[in-house]
Amino acid sequence: MSDVTDFLVIGAGLAGLAFARQVQAQGASVRVLDKGRGVGGRAATRRFGAARVDHGAQFFTTRSPEFQAIVEEGLASGWVREWYRSLPEWRDGAIHTRPEGHPRYACPEGISALPKFLAQGLDIVTEAEVQGLEWEDVGYVATAKDGRAFVGTTLILNVPPVQLLTLATDLLLPEAAEQIATATLEPCWAFMALLEADIPVDWPALELTDHPVFSWVARDHTKREPGAPPVLVAHAHARWTLAHLEESQATVEAALRTELENLLGPLAITQCQAHRWRYAKPITALGQPFFWDSARQLGACGDWCEGGRVEGAFLSGYKLAEVV
Ligand SMILES: Cc1cc2nc3c(=O)[nH]c(=O)nc-3n(C[C@H](O)[C@H](O)[C@H](O)COP(=O)(O)OP(=O)(O)OC[C@H]3O[C@@H](n4cnc5c(N)ncnc54)[C@H](O)[C@@H]3O)c2cc1C
Repeated sequence: MSDVTDFLVIGAGLAGLAFARQVQAQGASVRVLDKGRGVGGRAATRRFGAARVDHGAQFFTTRSPEFQAIVEEGLASGWVREWYRSLPEWRDGAIHTRPEGHPRYACPEGISALPKFLAQGLDIVTEAEVQGLEWEDVGYVATAKDGRAFVGTTLILNVPPVQLLTLATDLLLPEAAEQIATATLEPCWAFMALLEADIPVDWPALELTDHPVFSWVARDHTKREPGAPPVLVAHAHARWTLAHLEESQATVEAALRTELENLLGPLAITQCQAHRWRYAKPITALGQPFFWDSARQLGACGDWCEGGRVEGAFLSGYKLAEVV
């Protein structure tokens, strides 16, 4: 069993990292466990042939001074850049331009640069899928799939609500479990396509309204340095995703490839892949920035609590750190 830390955080998503960063800055000891090979959860970038692709979160916006401060640091150091201020919309079979709005930010090296920045200096254990949680005399004990055990006095859960309840229902008051169960997320099939040549359009991305399949198509390489290999990322909307949720990756990949060519015309695709996000975006939120039971020293944070999206996840963890 590991040494006992003040805080044990399950999930190195943006919320868990923002939480850990704050409490560590206040002098507490904290350890973060994640089942993934890296940090960031849905703020994910993968290598895809010669390209880097954001196959989860695409960009971020800032409304709060707390998150703005992080983005300012990123802009100054170059790991954040403004991506665009206005995107066209596909509607009724045509593309409509829209007026300029607030800046949307992206990361030239991929959006995983954001969680990597937040993770600096933290004690993070990756490839540690927590399968059991118990309260013992020493504190909360988290047992990973490979048998390793980690102990913390206070437990913070940064996992989607369904997974949270699977892991921790016995540790929660029944009314807390009921409240958390009201928060739901919808799934998303994402599709990535590496191209031999870029498509002849001038938009970095396209938002689609009432399209039969897609809600989003991005020329992901427009976030990178000039000369990056052209690569498209398309998101099927929740209705299409739900109708195809349990189909094989190969079946969905073929279907989305056809649908994308129906939308954009023939594409010189050299490599493509579909990725299923079972819990992609919140539909109904908890209605408060985080969950906290001070008597049990047990908390939860994530985009499903209140804000949604990248900034909402960050703020959920940040604000939870202020109350613990
Ligand atoms: C396809 C897609 C597109 C999106 N586009 C945008 C966008 O353009 N802009 C935007 O602002 N937001 C977007 N989002 C939403 C954004 O990604 C999320 O709001 C945000 O990343 C959520 O962070 P989080 O910390 O709440 O959770 P997560 O990122 O889900 O973090 C949870 C972490 O818990 C870990 N975990 C789960 N179970 C266990 C376990 N048993 N043991 C250990 N670790 C575990 C996971 O590996 C994960 O790292 C998008 C999401 C998706 C999926």
